[in-house]
Amino acid sequence: MTITESLQDRSMVYGQTKQTLLLFDDGHSTTAMSSTHWSTVSTWSKAGVGTCIVLELKDPPPPPPPPSSSSLEDAILHHHQTPTTKSSRTGPRIVFDVGATPCFDDAIPAKYVFLSHGHIDHVGALFSHARAHAMTCGGAGATYFVPAPLLPQVELCRDAMAVLDASTSRPPPDADGEENKGGSRSKSLIDMKLVPVRAGDEMPLRGIKCGSKTSFFMRAFDVDHAGHPALGYVIGSRTTAGLKEEYRMLDGAQIRDLVKSSVSVMADPIERIEVAYTGDTCARGLTKKRRGGDDNLDTTINEGGCKPPPFDIGQLFGAELLFCELTYLDSAEDETRRYVASERGHLHINDIDGIFASHDTYRKGGGISPNVASQGDGEKPTSIVFYHLSAKYQPACHALDLIVEGLPHQLRGRCHVAISSLLSQKEKKTVEDSINELIRPCGCISLAEYLQWKAALLPGRS
Ligand SMILES: [Zn+2]
Ligand SMILES: [Zn+2]
Repeated sequence: MTITESLQDRSMVYGQTKQTLLLFDDGHSTTAMSSTHWSTVSTWSKAGVGTCIVLELKDPPPPPPPPSSSSLEDAILHHHQTPTTKSSRTGPRIVFDVGATPCFDDAIPAKYVFLSHGHIDHVGALFSHARAHAMTCGGAGATYFVPAPLLPQVELCRDAMAVLDASTSRPPPDADGEENKGGSRSKSLIDMKLVPVRAGDEMPLRGIKCGSKTSFFMRAFDVDHAGHPALGYVIGSRTTAGLKEEYRMLDGAQIRDLVKSSVSVMADPIERIEVAYTGDTCARGLTKKRRGGDDNLDTTINEGGCKPPPFDIGQLFGAELLFCELTYLDSAEDETRRYVASERGHLHINDIDGIFASHDTYRKGGGISPNVASQGDGEKPTSIVFYHLSAKYQPACHALDLIVEGLPHQLRGRCHVAISSLLSQKEKKTVEDSINELIRPCGCISLAEYLQWKAALLPGRS
């Protein structure tokens, strides 16, 4: 059965029109859980329990053919490095939040950890990570980006944990002041570099490169998590673009002469917004504000004492891979429940349409608008991973059915869900025709593949 057939079946199952299925056939139905340079290793998330998302840098592309002796770019850049070879078991990793989750082991090698906020389900394994990373990854502490207002609290906790970690039952120093001997530690093994971050900050991810030409940076964004200091992040890349078009026919000596005479011969680097992470937020934190419009969006967004973020929050929705929180899944709930979700600082599934529709970047990337999407503007469409589901929607199939029911139709072909945390014991144990077969090693499921699987299970279907 083709995916189109399956999805047509699905339209019968869910009582929806076939017109909404068109986007599944536009080549976007198999959106990868990766960006140009980053792949998803682990996604374990359950609201109030733990969230940790681990990404790994892909291998650099194969090196270009050896430059000829007259290679112009080579003359300028003197790039004679041999291609990067992996010396460690894993490539460089980064982590969004470090709650206590089953994917902690995957997170340990991460050199950079991005903390969205201070709730324990997002920081519960923070100091375990700092200790384990320093002990097992060469001795240097990892770097932790922390919402700046929370830095004092994190430092306080770190110091308390360090006291605990360095505790010893050996007797205290004797009267002569002699220190304990015999190998007991008096110093904690927790080692971490804490970096305070504010919305609008952009910082380089030093030490992480892909080949010799691509480096990475992060940007921080204000979101709205019921008054708790909270940030969203994007990870971007910049790739050296080589010589400007007009200089590419010149030889090395001519290029050198231009450089000596202070001519800028290099093209601007290619910048990509690759990965975005919303952290915990309500709809106000993600919806683009409309000024004086006649739409029905909440015009108080990013107002009311909360100054507009220096970066357009729309950057998150133009990313190649977006991790978006989604806590409340029942689209049949009324506005009161949606209001409650907002007051708690979380997204309700009925918020999704308005949020995504408010972002031109997402429309441009082929998302919410079928008309724009069908034109195909050549931009890589956003893959979306929903995480932070509430446990009250367990088991996994129930949660996925609610998401299918409530999600805007146009989004489904490009959506994944971090679902492994909601699998029931029965779902985990079932072998034949099991949802387990659909769950990727990173813990996510493709919504399109789930729909196909559901359709294939219908009685009377082959
Ligand atoms: Zn949370
Ligand atoms: Zn939270």
